[in-house]
Amino acid sequence: MSSPQQGDFACRLCGGGKLYLYYTLGNDGRFRYYRCADCSLVNYDLASGLDQRQYTTAFVDPADDDDRRNHDKDQSFAFLAGYVAQPARLLDIGCGSGRLLYLAKRAGWQAKGLELSASMAARVRERIGLEVTAADFLEFDPPPGELEAYDVVCLRHVLEHLPDAHAAMTRVRALTRPGGFFLAEMPNVEGLAKKWLRLVVRLGLHRRRFPADFMAGHCNEYCRRSFEELLRRHGFRLVRWETYSKKPFANWLLNRIAVGTKARALAQRTMS
Ligand SMILES: [Zn+2]
Repeated sequence: MSSPQQGDFACRLCGGGKLYLYYTLGNDGRFRYYRCADCSLVNYDLASGLDQRQYTTAFVDPADDDDRRNHDKDQSFAFLAGYVAQPARLLDIGCGSGRLLYLAKRAGWQAKGLELSASMAARVRERIGLEVTAADFLEFDPPPGELEAYDVVCLRHVLEHLPDAHAAMTRVRALTRPGGFFLAEMPNVEGLAKKWLRLVVRLGLHRRRFPADFMAGHCNEYCRRSFEELLRRHGFRLVRWETYSKKPFANWLLNRIAVGTKARALAQRTMS
């Protein structure tokens, strides 16, 4: 199946019209990702359909220091603690099992979660005794006391699933106090392993096999440049961009040389 080499829609970040085919997914290549020549955002062509299954994950005890599934959140918290005056007021959007909330509470921070899954939100509330609201944050109306009230707003592995990043960032900004921080984690489309995979597929040296019912799930794929552009448009500046791994040595390395496939970024809201 041949794919159009140019996208017939506008870039969802900058509105630019110069979109070139960057890679495809699916056994017949029907899920097409186009990179914007202006801002570098990789835009999925939503016309091919999107996986709307919820990204439910198993509940992991947030108080279990030994569970390896908690360790990337441990990294997130240590990362934050290096920049933010403590104790801080934190909102974790898409808090999952609540490990980050648990760590924040243990350190004396004031923490609250938002979680799409009502059952997950209830389990986290029960396990760690913190407020967790079951809501889609794009539809969540913050109470007046929460507007521009948080020292830190976190959005981990959410942005890539949202077609409209501007709507998401408008919400994030509304919740972050002037001078406050925004922590984001997302795939890094320029990760070395991803570049390598795209190269060997393009050269015909490797054929990816997808499940028969595969559906694309990521709407937008970011790199440092496109993420900075998104921040700039919403009154944030990038403080730190790094990549990470759950494996300690790889993590040490990828924190220093940002070629990993998962990125962690800290941004600061402008004062106005
Ligand atoms: Zn663009």
